[in-house]
Amino acid sequence: MPLTRPDLDTIPRYVAGKNPSDVARESGVAEAVKLASNEVPYGPLPGVVEAVADAVSNTHRYPDPAVVALRNRLGERYDVAPDRIVSGCGSVALAEHIVRAAVLPGDEVVYSWRSFEAYPIITTSCGATSVQVPNTGAHAHDLDAMADAVTERTKVAFVCTPNNPTGTAVHADDLERFLDRVGPDVLVVIDEAYREFVRDPEVPDGLAAAKGRPNVVVLRTLSKAWGLAGIRVGWLAADPSVADAIRKVVTPFSVNHVAQAAALAALDAEDEMNRRVDLVVDERTRVVNAVRELRTDVPDTQANFLWLPLGDDAAEFAAGCEKRGVIVRPFAGDGVRVTIGTPAENDLFLRAAGDLL
Ligand code: PMP
Repeated sequence: MPLTRPDLDTIPRYVAGKNPSDVARESGVAEAVKLASNEVPYGPLPGVVEAVADAVSNTHRYPDPAVVALRNRLGERYDVAPDRIVSGCGSVALAEHIVRAAVLPGDEVVYSWRSFEAYPIITTSCGATSVQVPNTGAHAHDLDAMADAVTERTKVAFVCTPNNPTGTAVHADDLERFLDRVGPDVLVVIDEAYREFVRDPEVPDGLAAAKGRPNVVVLRTLSKAWGLAGIRVGWLAADPSVADAIRKVVTPFSVNHVAQAAALAALDAEDEMNRRVDLVVDERTRVVNAVRELRTDVPDTQANFLWLPLGDDAAEFAAGCEKRGVIVRPFAGDGVRVTIGTPAENDLFLRAAGDLL
């Protein structure tokens, strides 16, 4: 008899970006750059290192389990009542808490595919069934097909906008129609991990789209634009009753003391965050334009990465990049996601792409 659930064999493994020193050693290059995990390349925001250093003196005490100061701060910044906010150990943990709070065995979770690779892992591990709706030919969510896929067993639908890994974002009228069609009995999670990089005015702010819709949950993170990927803080905004239910399944004390302090300091540095995001967005335009000289099928991206729909050539392209000291993220048989880095890092990628495409 297996000691753990046999159905876990069907769960794909979460694959993280490779370590630059390992790749440099394997490829025989002096240094490798990592453009594989959608991080912003400019280091911690001002004030974060000091806040972490201060917080470390209190590590023998448990953190505030209700994360009150951070929820109040986020509430002020985003005009959301703090009782609607839940904070978690990264937004990926919150995505799992949402599903855990919503599904019973056999219930269904609808999402676009390809999308964030944690969705199938979370769905299966919570005992629910994944209903994957193929992206359109333009690598975007097919919201009408997703609404068609909703049944009486559907408890959660994820809308990932901008979508990881394709970078496409949903437009306001399409989202409104989707929410109208799905109705009030399905929790719709608008996963906006890359919201700060959006420049297309047609792309709605999920927090605004959620107004007056108690079934809509908005998921945000401090990992990407705010530069705290290694500290692990995410948050969600939901109807107070939904937020309360989710809090019941959150692992106690999951946002540690150091992380709460770092998040508050990062939020104090919003001007600098915006400046860095602007640099990334400028570089995104430059890199996408340059890559489109090589391939015309790169979709528009509103995130800090771009998608190369290379199909069966994905793994080979990624291996070729690694040989040239650039770590990108292949999705075998489908495509390659490339994070926008510093101008020098992007130049290195463009040189590799020029050789390989
Ligand atoms: N949602 C999406 C769409 C993501 O791409 C990611 C990170 N890859 C997350 C959520 C989770 O981010 P974190 O747990 O670092 O907040």
